[in-house]
Amino acid sequence: MHKGPLSFASLGSGSRGNATLIRKNGTCILVDCGFSMVQLQRRLAGLGLALDDLSAILVTHEHGDHIRGVAALARKTSIPVWMTPGTAMHLKPAEIPVLQLLNCHQSLTIDDIHIQPYPVPHDAREPCQYVFSDGNRRLGLLTDTGSPTQHILSVLSRCDALIIECNHDEEMLANSSYPESVKARIGGSLGHLSNRQTAELLNHIDCSKLQHLVAAHLSEQNNTVERVRQTLSRALGCSPDWVSIALQDEGLAWRDIS
Ligand SMILES: [Zn+2]
Ligand SMILES: [Zn+2]
Repeated sequence: MHKGPLSFASLGSGSRGNATLIRKNGTCILVDCGFSMVQLQRRLAGLGLALDDLSAILVTHEHGDHIRGVAALARKTSIPVWMTPGTAMHLKPAEIPVLQLLNCHQSLTIDDIHIQPYPVPHDAREPCQYVFSDGNRRLGLLTDTGSPTQHILSVLSRCDALIIECNHDEEMLANSSYPESVKARIGGSLGHLSNRQTAELLNHIDCSKLQHLVAAHLSEQNNTVERVRQTLSRALGCSPDWVSIALQDEGLAWRDIS
C-alpha cells in the first residue's frame, strides 16, 4: 500500500469552479467537477492526465461550482460517482450511470485510497468533505463550510496536508458592494470560512505533522493572496511563502506528501 506517495493537485478552486485530484499509485480520485468537459480535459492535460486516468468521482455538495460538470463526465467515462443521498436528490437518476451513495459518517476505500467523509455546516442539502489516507499519510480537504464544528476540528487534527477554505477577508466583504443579503449568506454559519475563521481553526487543531497547507476557494472580489498568506502564516508561525494557494485559473500543481 505504501509504494508511491499520496499526492494531490487542484484543477482550479473558487466560485467559478472547483476540482481536486488525489492520487496514490494507479488510483486517481477527482473531488467535485465544477468545470465543463472542455475545461476539465484542458486542466487535466496541464497536470499530465487524461479522462482515462480517473478512477472515481467524489462530490461534496450540489452547488454549481462543484457539480456543474459531474453528469457529463460520469456519462463520458462511466466511472463511479460517490455522494450523499441528500446531494443525489438534486440529480435525475439517469444522469449518472454508476451512482454510489455514501454515508457521511462511514469510511470507504477506493482501490489504494481510504476516504473518511465528514459532515459540514453549509447551505446545501447534505454537504460533506473528506479526509484521504494511504494508511500512512492523511490529507484533509475542507471547503464550503460556514463555521468549524468540534467534529471538523477532531477530523482535521494531525493531518499531513490540508487544503482548506479561505473564502473572504471579513473587512473586504463588509466593505464590498455585495447586497446585504449576500454578505449575510457568505459570512453566516452556513456560508463560507473567512481567513480569520480558518486561522482560528488551525490554532485549535494539531498541526505538528503538517507538510503542506493549501488555501482554497478564495473569493476573487473579497480576498487577496497576500491577506490569506499573512493571516494563516501568523496563525501557524510560518513564513507567508510556505502557505500555498489553489487559484481559480491556475489551480495547484502536483504535491507529494512524503
Ligand atoms: Zn463552492
Ligand atoms: Zn457551496
